[in-house]
Amino acid sequence: MLIECRCSTVCSIGDDLLIDLRNQVFHEYQITCPGCYEVYDVGMKVTPHTKDYGYRDKDTLVDLYVHREYSMQEIADKYGATPMTIHNWLTKHEIPTRTTGRSSV
Ligand SMILES: [Zn+2]
Repeated sequence: MLIECRCSTVCSIGDDLLIDLRNQVFHEYQITCPGCYEVYDVGMKVTPHTKDYGYRDKDTLVDLYVHREYSMQEIADKYGATPMTIHNWLTKHEIPTRTTGRSSV
């Protein structure tokens, strides 16, 4: 990321910047302009994209896939995911997948 200082010097925030999302979602650090030595506090908030990951929940998957007999494709469409993702989560939760014809999924 680059920041242009008031003195028009472009300051670079190092490429080695690592934001550890396991521990924090807010990252704060200082950069010093190499041109005028102005010091800036930079804060960056990083949050997961607010997507509906309901399909990751075992109960939800069992309800949709087993009880309501949705196909992987239908569940994928519902959540804006791919059938492969749904398949992975079904497998992860040890929910037996239906092999209704070796079609696309
Ligand atoms: Zn400057």
